Amino acid sequence: MTWETQLKESIRTIGELEHFLDFRLHEKKKLKKVIERHPMCIPRHYLSLVDRNDPYDPIRAMAVPSIDELDLHGSYDTSGEKENTKISGLQHKYGQTALILSTNRCAMYCRHCFRKRLVGLSQNELLQRFDEAAIYVKDHREINNVLISGGDPFVLPTSTLAGFLDMLAPIDHLSFVRFGTRVPVTLPDRIIEDSELMHLLRFHSSKQRRIFVVTQFNHPREITERAIEAVHTLISAGIVVNNQTVLLRGVNDSPACLASLQNALVGIGVNPYYVFQCRPVKRVMHHFQVPLLRAYQIVELSKKMLNGHSKRFKFIMSHRRGKIEIVGRKGDTLYFKFHQARSVKNMGDFFSRKLRLNEGWLGESGEDHVKEPAYTAIV
Ligand code: SF4
Repeated sequence: MTWETQLKESIRTIGELEHFLDFRLHEKKKLKKVIERHPMCIPRHYLSLVDRNDPYDPIRAMAVPSIDELDLHGSYDTSGEKENTKISGLQHKYGQTALILSTNRCAMYCRHCFRKRLVGLSQNELLQRFDEAAIYVKDHREINNVLISGGDPFVLPTSTLAGFLDMLAPIDHLSFVRFGTRVPVTLPDRIIEDSELMHLLRFHSSKQRRIFVVTQFNHPREITERAIEAVHTLISAGIVVNNQTVLLRGVNDSPACLASLQNALVGIGVNPYYVFQCRPVKRVMHHFQVPLLRAYQIVELSKKMLNGHSKRFKFIMSHRRGKIEIVGRKGDTLYFKFHQARSVKNMGDFFSRKLRLNEGWLGESGEDHVKEPAYTAIV
Protein backbone atom coordinates (compact mmCIF):
# COMPACT_ATOMS: atom_id res chain seq x y z
CA MET A 1 0.00 0.00 0.00
CA THR A 2 1.45 3.42 -0.91
CA TRP A 3 1.95 5.98 1.82
CA GLU A 4 -0.76 8.14 0.25
CA THR A 5 -3.22 5.23 0.48
CA GLN A 6 -2.14 4.57 4.06
CA LEU A 7 -2.84 8.20 4.83
CA LYS A 8 -6.30 7.97 3.26
CA GLU A 9 -7.06 4.81 5.22
CA SER A 10 -6.15 6.31 8.57
CA ILE A 11 -8.73 6.16 11.36
CA ARG A 12 -10.74 9.38 11.58
CA THR A 13 -14.01 8.56 13.34
CA ILE A 14 -14.93 7.07 16.70
CA GLY A 15 -17.03 4.51 14.80
CA GLU A 16 -13.92 3.24 12.97
CA LEU A 17 -11.87 3.31 16.16
CA GLU A 18 -14.45 1.14 17.93
CA HIS A 19 -13.33 -1.80 15.80
CA PHE A 20 -10.01 -1.66 17.66
CA LEU A 21 -10.74 -0.18 21.08
CA ASP A 22 -13.59 -0.31 23.57
CA PHE A 23 -15.44 2.81 24.69
CA ARG A 24 -18.34 3.34 27.08
CA LEU A 25 -21.48 4.96 25.63
CA HIS A 26 -21.18 8.23 27.60
CA GLU A 27 -17.49 8.39 26.66
CA LYS A 28 -18.25 7.94 22.96
CA LYS A 29 -20.58 10.94 22.94
CA LYS A 30 -17.96 13.14 24.58
CA LEU A 31 -15.19 11.92 22.30
CA LYS A 32 -17.28 12.78 19.27
CA LYS A 33 -17.53 16.29 20.68
CA VAL A 34 -13.76 16.41 21.17
CA ILE A 35 -12.99 15.43 17.59
CA GLU A 36 -15.54 17.86 16.21
CA ARG A 37 -13.28 20.52 17.72
CA HIS A 38 -9.89 18.86 17.13
CA PRO A 39 -9.89 16.19 14.44
CA MET A 40 -8.52 12.72 14.93
CA CYS A 41 -6.28 10.97 12.42
CA ILE A 42 -4.43 7.78 13.36
CA PRO A 43 -2.43 5.88 10.76
CA ARG A 44 -3.00 2.12 10.97
CA HIS A 45 0.73 1.61 11.53
CA TYR A 46 0.58 3.77 14.65
CA LEU A 47 -2.69 2.24 15.85
CA SER A 48 -1.07 -1.21 15.65
CA LEU A 49 1.34 -0.09 18.39
CA VAL A 50 -1.48 0.59 20.86
CA ASP A 51 -2.02 -1.97 23.61
CA ARG A 52 -5.78 -2.38 23.31
CA ASN A 53 -6.01 -3.99 26.75
CA ASP A 54 -4.54 -1.00 28.53
CA PRO A 55 -6.73 2.12 28.77
CA TYR A 56 -3.67 4.02 30.07
CA ASP A 57 -1.36 2.85 27.31
CA PRO A 58 1.15 5.66 26.53
CA ILE A 59 0.91 5.15 22.77
CA ARG A 60 -2.86 5.36 23.00
CA ALA A 61 -2.62 8.59 25.01
CA MET A 62 -0.73 10.31 22.17
CA ALA A 63 -3.09 9.17 19.41
CA VAL A 64 -6.58 8.60 20.79
CA PRO A 65 -8.69 11.57 21.96
CA SER A 66 -9.58 11.73 25.60
CA ILE A 67 -12.43 13.40 27.46
CA ASP A 68 -9.73 15.34 29.33
CA GLU A 69 -9.53 17.45 26.17
CA LEU A 70 -12.77 19.10 27.25
CA ASP A 71 -10.77 21.00 29.89
CA LEU A 72 -10.26 24.51 28.57
CA HIS A 73 -7.47 25.79 30.80
CA GLY A 74 -4.49 27.05 28.86
CA SER A 75 -3.80 28.95 25.71
CA TYR A 76 -3.68 28.09 22.01
CA ASP A 77 -0.57 30.20 21.45
CA THR A 78 1.83 29.60 24.31
CA SER A 79 5.03 30.76 22.65
CA GLY A 80 3.83 33.96 21.04
CA GLU A 81 3.69 32.62 17.49
CA LYS A 82 1.27 35.35 16.45
CA GLU A 83 3.55 38.17 17.52
CA ASN A 84 6.54 36.59 15.72
CA THR A 85 4.71 36.25 12.41
CA LYS A 86 6.21 38.52 9.76
CA ILE A 87 4.16 37.36 6.80
CA SER A 88 1.38 34.81 6.99
CA GLY A 89 3.07 31.46 7.68
CA LEU A 90 6.54 32.85 8.34
CA GLN A 91 7.77 33.44 11.89
CA HIS A 92 11.02 35.15 12.78
CA LYS A 93 11.54 34.98 16.53
CA TYR A 94 15.27 34.28 16.77
CA GLY A 95 17.59 36.26 14.49
CA GLN A 96 19.17 33.30 12.73
CA THR A 97 16.08 31.16 12.17
CA ALA A 98 13.01 31.53 9.97
CA LEU A 99 10.13 29.17 10.71
CA ILE A 100 7.64 28.29 8.01
CA LEU A 101 4.16 26.86 8.55
CA SER A 102 3.87 24.90 5.33
CA THR A 103 0.71 22.89 5.95
CA ASN A 104 -2.01 22.30 8.53
CA ARG A 105 -2.07 18.55 7.88
CA CYS A 106 -0.16 15.74 9.60
CA ALA A 107 -0.04 11.96 9.26
CA MET A 108 -1.37 11.85 12.82
CA TYR A 109 -3.01 14.53 14.91
CA CYS A 110 -1.10 14.02 18.14
CA ARG A 111 -3.35 14.79 21.06
CA HIS A 112 -0.57 16.71 22.81
CA CYS A 113 0.23 18.97 19.85
CA PHE A 114 1.14 22.55 20.75
CA ARG A 115 -0.24 23.75 17.41
CA LYS A 116 -3.59 22.18 18.20
CA ARG A 117 -5.18 25.45 17.11
CA LEU A 118 -4.32 24.71 13.49
CA VAL A 119 -3.55 21.04 12.81
CA GLY A 120 -6.36 19.59 10.72
CA LEU A 121 -8.19 22.92 11.03
CA SER A 122 -7.77 26.41 9.70
CA GLN A 123 -5.39 27.33 6.90
CA ASN A 124 -5.35 31.01 7.91
CA GLU A 125 -1.91 30.90 9.49
CA LEU A 126 -0.21 28.99 6.69
CA LEU A 127 2.25 30.30 4.17
CA GLN A 128 0.37 31.20 1.00
CA ARG A 129 3.30 31.63 -1.37
CA PHE A 130 6.69 30.09 -0.75
CA ASP A 131 8.38 32.58 -3.09
CA GLU A 132 7.42 35.38 -0.66
CA ALA A 133 9.08 33.48 2.18
CA ALA A 134 12.20 32.98 0.07
CA ILE A 135 12.32 36.74 -0.61
CA TYR A 136 11.99 37.48 3.13
CA VAL A 137 14.82 35.07 3.93
CA LYS A 138 16.98 36.51 1.14
CA ASP A 139 16.44 40.04 2.44
CA HIS A 140 17.41 39.08 6.02
CA ARG A 141 21.05 38.11 5.87
CA GLU A 142 21.09 37.29 9.60
CA ILE A 143 18.95 34.21 8.86
CA ASN A 144 21.25 31.22 8.41
CA ASN A 145 18.66 28.43 8.63
CA VAL A 146 15.05 27.77 7.74
CA LEU A 147 12.82 25.37 9.65
CA ILE A 148 9.99 24.04 7.48
CA SER A 149 7.27 22.95 9.85
CA GLY A 150 3.46 22.82 9.98
CA GLY A 151 1.57 20.55 10.52
CA ASP A 152 3.91 18.00 9.03
CA PRO A 153 5.65 19.04 5.79
CA PHE A 154 6.33 15.43 4.84
CA VAL A 155 2.64 14.85 4.12
CA LEU A 156 3.02 17.32 1.25
CA PRO A 157 3.78 15.90 -2.21
CA THR A 158 7.47 15.48 -2.93
CA SER A 159 7.10 17.92 -5.84
CA THR A 160 5.94 20.63 -3.40
CA LEU A 161 8.94 20.00 -1.13
CA ALA A 162 11.16 20.17 -4.22
CA GLY A 163 9.71 23.61 -4.99
CA PHE A 164 10.56 24.80 -1.45
CA LEU A 165 14.14 23.55 -1.64
CA ASP A 166 14.66 24.94 -5.14
CA MET A 167 13.62 28.41 -3.94
CA LEU A 168 15.93 28.29 -0.92
CA ALA A 169 18.90 26.84 -2.83
CA PRO A 170 20.20 30.14 -4.32
CA ILE A 171 20.22 31.96 -0.93
CA ASP A 172 23.90 31.92 -0.12
CA HIS A 173 23.65 32.94 3.55
CA LEU A 174 21.70 29.80 4.48
CA SER A 175 23.82 27.09 6.12
CA PHE A 176 21.12 24.49 6.61
CA VAL A 177 17.45 23.71 6.15
CA ARG A 178 15.40 21.69 8.64
CA PHE A 179 12.19 19.77 8.20
CA GLY A 180 10.14 19.27 11.39
CA THR A 181 8.33 15.98 10.84
CA ARG A 182 6.91 13.14 12.89
CA VAL A 183 6.40 10.78 9.92
CA PRO A 184 9.44 8.64 10.84
CA VAL A 185 7.33 7.70 13.87
CA THR A 186 3.74 7.90 12.65
CA LEU A 187 3.98 6.93 8.95
CA PRO A 188 7.51 5.63 8.31
CA ASP A 189 6.57 4.27 4.87
CA ARG A 190 6.37 7.89 3.67
CA ILE A 191 10.16 7.86 3.90
CA ILE A 192 10.99 4.24 3.18
CA GLU A 193 8.97 3.98 0.01
CA ASP A 194 9.41 7.32 -1.69
CA SER A 195 12.76 7.09 -3.43
CA GLU A 196 12.03 10.44 -5.13
CA LEU A 197 11.95 12.17 -1.74
CA MET A 198 15.29 10.62 -0.82
CA HIS A 199 16.80 11.71 -4.17
CA LEU A 200 15.55 15.22 -3.52
CA LEU A 201 16.97 15.40 0.00
CA ARG A 202 20.27 13.87 -1.08
CA PHE A 203 20.49 16.37 -3.96
CA HIS A 204 20.00 19.35 -1.64
CA SER A 205 22.11 18.07 1.26
CA SER A 206 25.66 19.01 0.38
CA LYS A 207 28.92 19.13 2.29
CA GLN A 208 28.37 22.85 2.84
CA ARG A 209 24.63 22.89 3.45
CA ARG A 210 23.03 19.93 5.16
CA ILE A 211 19.37 19.06 5.33
CA PHE A 212 18.26 18.17 8.85
CA VAL A 213 15.20 16.25 9.89
CA VAL A 214 13.92 17.13 13.34
CA THR A 215 11.60 14.41 14.50
CA GLN A 216 9.69 13.56 17.66
CA PHE A 217 10.02 10.16 19.30
CA ASN A 218 8.37 10.29 22.72
CA HIS A 219 8.36 6.67 23.84
CA PRO A 220 10.67 3.67 23.31
CA ARG A 221 7.77 1.67 21.81
CA GLU A 222 7.64 4.15 18.93
CA ILE A 223 11.04 2.88 17.82
CA THR A 224 9.65 0.10 15.63
CA GLU A 225 11.41 -1.82 12.86
CA ARG A 226 9.72 0.47 10.28
CA ALA A 227 10.73 3.60 12.19
CA ILE A 228 14.34 2.33 12.36
CA GLU A 229 14.21 1.66 8.61
CA ALA A 230 12.91 5.21 7.99
CA VAL A 231 15.72 6.72 10.07
CA HIS A 232 18.28 4.54 8.30
CA THR A 233 16.91 5.63 4.91
CA LEU A 234 17.27 9.29 5.89
CA ILE A 235 20.79 8.84 7.21
CA SER A 236 21.76 6.94 4.05
CA ALA A 237 20.59 9.95 2.03
CA GLY A 238 23.01 12.18 3.98
CA ILE A 239 20.40 13.67 6.30
CA VAL A 240 21.16 14.51 9.92
CA VAL A 241 18.32 13.30 12.18
CA ASN A 242 17.70 15.07 15.50
CA ASN A 243 14.99 14.32 18.03
CA GLN A 244 12.81 16.53 20.20
CA THR A 245 10.96 14.63 22.90
CA VAL A 246 8.02 16.22 24.69
CA LEU A 247 7.83 15.27 28.37
CA LEU A 248 4.25 14.03 28.76
CA ARG A 249 2.37 12.86 31.82
CA GLY A 250 1.24 9.26 31.42
CA VAL A 251 3.53 8.76 28.43
CA ASN A 252 7.20 9.15 29.30
CA ASP A 253 7.24 10.79 32.75
CA SER A 254 9.60 8.35 34.41
CA PRO A 255 13.40 8.44 34.47
CA ALA A 256 13.64 4.85 33.22
CA CYS A 257 11.35 5.50 30.25
CA LEU A 258 13.09 8.71 29.25
CA ALA A 259 16.54 7.13 29.59
CA SER A 260 15.58 4.06 27.62
CA LEU A 261 14.19 6.31 24.85
CA GLN A 262 17.30 8.49 24.55
CA ASN A 263 19.64 5.48 24.66
CA ALA A 264 17.67 3.66 21.98
CA LEU A 265 17.59 6.77 19.76
CA VAL A 266 21.35 7.08 19.82
CA GLY A 267 21.56 3.39 18.94
CA ILE A 268 19.62 3.96 15.71
CA GLY A 269 21.60 7.07 14.78
CA VAL A 270 19.22 9.79 16.02
CA ASN A 271 20.73 12.66 18.01
CA PRO A 272 18.91 13.69 21.22
CA TYR A 273 18.40 17.43 20.71
CA TYR A 274 15.76 18.76 23.13
CA VAL A 275 13.44 17.44 25.81
CA PHE A 276 10.57 19.93 25.92
CA GLN A 277 8.47 20.79 28.91
CA CYS A 278 4.84 20.34 27.79
CA ARG A 279 3.40 23.79 27.09
CA PRO A 280 0.24 25.07 28.78
CA VAL A 281 -1.84 24.41 25.67
CA LYS A 282 -5.60 24.46 25.90
CA ARG A 283 -7.03 20.91 25.95
CA VAL A 284 -3.48 19.57 26.47
CA MET A 285 -1.96 20.96 29.68
CA HIS A 286 -4.65 19.56 31.97
CA HIS A 287 -3.70 15.94 31.41
CA PHE A 288 -0.27 16.00 29.75
CA GLN A 289 1.77 18.61 31.61
CA VAL A 290 4.13 17.48 34.37
CA PRO A 291 4.75 20.13 37.07
CA LEU A 292 8.16 21.73 36.64
CA LEU A 293 9.80 20.62 39.90
CA ARG A 294 8.91 17.01 39.22
CA ALA A 295 9.75 17.30 35.52
CA TYR A 296 13.24 18.52 36.37
CA GLN A 297 13.73 15.63 38.76
CA ILE A 298 12.63 13.09 36.12
CA VAL A 299 15.03 14.51 33.55
CA GLU A 300 17.95 14.62 35.99
CA LEU A 301 17.36 11.07 37.24
CA SER A 302 17.18 9.87 33.62
CA LYS A 303 20.56 11.47 32.96
CA LYS A 304 22.09 9.24 35.63
CA MET A 305 21.27 6.31 33.33
CA LEU A 306 22.70 7.91 30.18
CA ASN A 307 26.13 8.16 28.61
CA GLY A 308 27.42 11.54 27.47
CA HIS A 309 26.14 11.20 23.93
CA SER A 310 22.63 10.19 24.97
CA LYS A 311 22.28 13.14 27.37
CA ARG A 312 23.37 15.87 24.97
CA PHE A 313 19.77 17.15 24.89
CA LYS A 314 18.78 20.28 26.74
CA PHE A 315 15.65 20.36 28.90
CA ILE A 316 13.81 23.36 27.50
CA MET A 317 10.69 25.43 27.95
CA SER A 318 9.77 26.94 24.60
CA HIS A 319 8.46 30.12 26.12
CA ARG A 320 7.01 33.36 24.78
CA ARG A 321 10.30 35.05 25.73
CA GLY A 322 12.62 32.42 24.30
CA LYS A 323 13.94 28.93 24.72
CA ILE A 324 14.57 28.69 28.44
CA GLU A 325 16.80 25.87 29.62
CA ILE A 326 16.03 24.39 33.03
CA VAL A 327 19.45 23.91 34.53
CA GLY A 328 19.20 23.24 38.25
CA ARG A 329 17.12 22.84 41.38
CA LYS A 330 17.65 23.60 45.03
CA GLY A 331 14.67 22.78 47.23
CA ASP A 332 11.63 24.38 45.66
CA THR A 333 13.68 26.79 43.54
CA LEU A 334 14.49 26.07 39.91
CA TYR A 335 17.35 27.70 37.99
CA PHE A 336 16.95 28.72 34.38
CA LYS A 337 19.03 30.08 31.52
CA PHE A 338 17.97 31.64 28.24
CA HIS A 339 19.27 29.32 25.53
CA GLN A 340 17.57 31.44 22.87
CA ALA A 341 15.83 34.74 23.49
CA ARG A 342 13.30 36.75 21.57
CA SER A 343 15.09 39.85 22.77
CA VAL A 344 18.86 39.60 22.25
CA LYS A 345 19.50 41.37 25.56
CA ASN A 346 18.09 38.34 27.42
CA MET A 347 20.36 35.84 25.66
CA GLY A 348 22.28 33.81 28.23
CA ASP A 349 20.45 35.42 31.20
CA PHE A 350 20.43 33.20 34.27
CA PHE A 351 17.61 33.44 36.81
CA SER A 352 15.77 31.48 39.46
CA ARG A 353 12.17 31.05 40.46
CA LYS A 354 10.59 29.56 43.55
CA LEU A 355 7.79 27.26 42.42
CA ARG A 356 4.78 25.61 43.91
CA LEU A 357 4.57 21.86 43.48
CA ASN A 358 1.80 22.10 40.88
CA GLU A 359 3.30 24.85 38.68
CA GLY A 360 4.03 23.72 35.15
CA TRP A 361 5.12 26.92 33.41
CA LEU A 362 6.75 30.26 34.13
CA GLY A 363 4.85 33.43 34.70
CA GLU A 364 1.58 32.31 33.24
CA SER A 365 -1.54 31.00 34.76
CA GLY A 366 -1.89 29.06 31.54
CA GLU A 367 -4.70 31.30 30.38
CA ASP A 368 -4.83 33.28 27.18
CA HIS A 369 -4.03 36.57 28.95
CA VAL A 370 -0.40 36.20 29.72
CA LYS A 371 1.53 38.18 32.31
CA GLU A 372 5.27 38.63 32.09
CA PRO A 373 7.10 36.35 34.50
CA ALA A 374 8.55 37.84 37.68
CA TYR A 375 12.11 36.55 37.52
CA THR A 376 14.74 36.61 40.23
CA ALA A 377 17.93 37.49 38.35
CA ILE A 378 21.16 35.95 39.54
CA VAL A 379 24.16 38.26 39.35
S1 SF4 B 1 2.83 15.61 13.85
FE1 SF4 B 1 3.67 17.39 14.94
S2 SF4 B 1 2.45 19.12 14.20
FE2 SF4 B 1 1.34 17.26 13.67
S3 SF4 B 1 -0.06 16.92 15.37
FE3 SF4 B 1 1.78 15.72 15.81
S4 SF4 B 1 3.02 17.10 17.08
FE4 SF4 B 1 1.48 18.38 16.05
